Amino acid sequence: MPNSTAQPQLLSQMNERSVLRLLQSTGPCSRADVTRQLGATAPTVSKAVASLLRSGLLEEFDAPSNGRGRPARQLRLATESAQVIGLVIDAGECRFVSAGLDGSLDSDTGRAFPTPNSYEALIEAAALEVESLLTPEVQTLGLGISLPGLIDSNTQKGLLSPNVPVTNGHSPALDLSERLTLPSVLLQECHALCLAERHYGNARRLDDFAMLDATTGVGLGVLTGGRLLTGMSGLAGEIGHLPIEQDGHLCGCGRRGCLETLASDTALTRLVSEQLGRDISFDEMAQLVALGELNIDESLEEVASHLSFALATAINLFNPSTLFVCSRMLDLDPGLLDRLRERTEGLALRPSFDACRIERARGSKREGTIAGIIVYLTDARVQLDIPVSSGIQ
Ligand SMILES: [Zn+2]
Repeated sequence: MPNSTAQPQLLSQMNERSVLRLLQSTGPCSRADVTRQLGATAPTVSKAVASLLRSGLLEEFDAPSNGRGRPARQLRLATESAQVIGLVIDAGECRFVSAGLDGSLDSDTGRAFPTPNSYEALIEAAALEVESLLTPEVQTLGLGISLPGLIDSNTQKGLLSPNVPVTNGHSPALDLSERLTLPSVLLQECHALCLAERHYGNARRLDDFAMLDATTGVGLGVLTGGRLLTGMSGLAGEIGHLPIEQDGHLCGCGRRGCLETLASDTALTRLVSEQLGRDISFDEMAQLVALGELNIDESLEEVASHLSFALATAINLFNPSTLFVCSRMLDLDPGLLDRLRERTEGLALRPSFDACRIERARGSKREGTIAGIIVYLTDARVQLDIPVSSGIQ
């Protein structure tokens, strides 16, 4: 129970969140519409709106008039007066994006730089990029960051990132937040993909779904009852390190034969490199396949069989209504998704499989970082004494 002095503040924050949620779901509204739709009193709404305008989360604008009378003042999530920034930290490169608080991405800010091989250089390069996006005209409200691997949601520290090991033991969100004086949140990349699918993709009305990411590694994000499944400290869902092959390939986690060494885009690239007797990149492989100059059927089927195992495992364990698959392999063969469905049907429990659709993911990690910081900025208003990452639901 909140104590007696904290309670009025908590109530104010809950009112503010209700206003934000309404504007997120309906788009721009007048104050009168907000009051009516929330069933609140005009002074309550007025107080919440004034606080949200002061903090930069909302803005007012004149809607075009219908030819009669004055234009109506409308409220919306800050779009022109404020921005949020997203940073995707990945194995090969780091990418940035900026967006209004309504989530509309600014297409001009898709910058990237190669991921540095030291943590200090990563923070330095990221800070310079963020600083270059700051402008006096537009208030910057926060930074969302995605990172592959294990992240302790209580301390916001990267614990073990097999694909970006320079971040192990570090907290890019806390370090960038301190340097830039900007609220920042760190998201495990599968959680970022779940939020992206929910805010931008095909999971907008889904409260129970899962996301299997089989790109660089293999990761799993699960939304259950509308909340991200995190486990005690954010480590839940690490399906990619199930031990599958004894004495198999060395995994970035230090063990051998993990599922992600067999069922990812990286695994396919490795198999095709072995087939050719030289290292090939995914892009070059895709180009040669498109030109009909390279046949990868055998390698693709081998990886697909492991990927089906991952899909069946996720379906049996988490009973999602939809299981989204994020993989560039699906670009190489238009029939692959159907074959994955068939193989998975042969492996999963019948009732769980029958209740689940398997679909290709549409959201991106960049969208996930933006959705993550928006959720944090809007939801954290009622969770001020809870660590940063716990605001992401
Ligand atoms: Zn592993």
